[in-house]
Amino acid sequence: MLADLPDLPTGLLIDGEWTTAADGRTVAVIDPATGEELTSIADAAPADAVAALGAASAAAPAWAATPPRQRAEILRQAFDEVTRRKDEFARLMTLEMGKPLAEAYGEVTYGSEFLRWFSEEAVRIGGRYGLNPEGTGQMVVSQRPVGPAYLITPWNFPLAMATRKIAPALAAGCPVIIKPAANTPLTTLLFAQLLVEVGVPAGVVNVIASTRPAEITEPLLADPRLRKLSFTGSTAVGVRLLEQAARNVLRTSMELGGNAPFLIFDDADLDAAVDGAMTAKFRNIGQACTAANRFIVHAQVVDEFVARVTARVKAMKVGSGLEDGVNIGPLIDAKAVDSTDTLVTDAVDLGASVTVGGRRIERPGYFYAPTVLRDVQPGSRLLAEEIFGPVLGVITFETEDEAVAMANDTEYGLVSYAYTRDLGRAHRLIDSLETGMMGLNTGLVSNAAAPFGGVKASGLGREGAAEGIAEYLETKYTLIPTA
Ligand code: NAD
Repeated sequence: MLADLPDLPTGLLIDGEWTTAADGRTVAVIDPATGEELTSIADAAPADAVAALGAASAAAPAWAATPPRQRAEILRQAFDEVTRRKDEFARLMTLEMGKPLAEAYGEVTYGSEFLRWFSEEAVRIGGRYGLNPEGTGQMVVSQRPVGPAYLITPWNFPLAMATRKIAPALAAGCPVIIKPAANTPLTTLLFAQLLVEVGVPAGVVNVIASTRPAEITEPLLADPRLRKLSFTGSTAVGVRLLEQAARNVLRTSMELGGNAPFLIFDDADLDAAVDGAMTAKFRNIGQACTAANRFIVHAQVVDEFVARVTARVKAMKVGSGLEDGVNIGPLIDAKAVDSTDTLVTDAVDLGASVTVGGRRIERPGYFYAPTVLRDVQPGSRLLAEEIFGPVLGVITFETEDEAVAMANDTEYGLVSYAYTRDLGRAHRLIDSLETGMMGLNTGLVSNAAAPFGGVKASGLGREGAAEGIAEYLETKYTLIPTA
């Protein structure tokens, strides 16, 4: 299956060299559509992580001193190259992660935009100048790269999660060590090879895929040479990493889990709401931190909404993401199928009814039928936990206050979606929904030019936009007495 990518690297990238793991271990990468091995790659040991940090630390002064225009040009060339090679990247993502090929192309567009956006930001790192209020001195505020950064990414968006971190770090002048998720490391490896080809110097980008994330991460977080941690993944792991990072007072950015509410009011444009619901729920086979997790629908429109989404789901084609016309590919692994099924069974036991799906699909690979559940009852795990599968669960409300209370009844606060044509209500919702992002009459909010991130247990910091590069910069204030 990888025959058309004969030069795909399978090693660790440390100090510009592709190497094997210090202890020689390797790990198989599995195609989730078949359960078969695609290839095997080097499985980093703790010593490799420390070597990667050594390389990043040694490369830091020269990279920080590289003219911003030069850093920008490298990122811009990376954007051009990823765009030119979009077929390779899209196919590889579908092979290792399972998403439908059309969505993989969408991710190439989205993911590469971070390279273009931050190439443009690299030359706009500014500062401030002013007189002190006493009139006795000049105050200069400048921004410096924070230093070597450790980037940990999840498996669900193999290219975009890497570019969303690597691009602002390189633009700011920080060298990086990236640890992709062990089940989808190939896209990061291909991307790192491309970065070397467009001129990223040795040691500035290091890649350490590993099945031992805790073992290789602990020595890095304990090492004072590391100055920044940027993590995207589950809240449980994020909390553990924050605890470890606290010991060295490490700068952190945390993009954690979500439990997005999707509100549909009785004045909504229902055609638009159904379209938005299908995107917000089933994109990436429901495996997105931004996936709508709870559909909170006004009692007057719930029957119509459920009938329409059920019809749309019945028409969906399930299969390998490489097949024409497939909308729902496999889940990432067998565990994901089990946990999706557990949440559905729990909801049904508590009184929800299945209008379509609600079962595993028996075939090779890890498939779960796209599912709609209505009348999900309070106390169902489906409402409290991230589903991370193609399951659309519906609850109903009568009043706006009730809808908002339901939406905010979660520890998470990444994104919310709301459909209404009432302008006053729309503005009230912007204030009342406790999330870092909001889609108002849309089911998709991600954009390289927007600050992506959450509140509450969904994280700290933002990625993308001007906020994204600020995560990799330190502010320095200098006073120059003049009197
Ligand atoms: P995960 O937390 O299991 O893993 C994420 C990454 O952390 C992987 O690279 C993994 O190897 C690594 N990891 C796991 N344990 C670790 C440890 N002890 N020390 C260091 N690294 C460790 O999450 P996942 O299953 O890969 O991804 C799904 C989760 O990611 C969901 O909760 C989803 O909401 C979240 N996510 C969030 C965003 C966002 O921007 N907020 C985006 C995508 C995914």
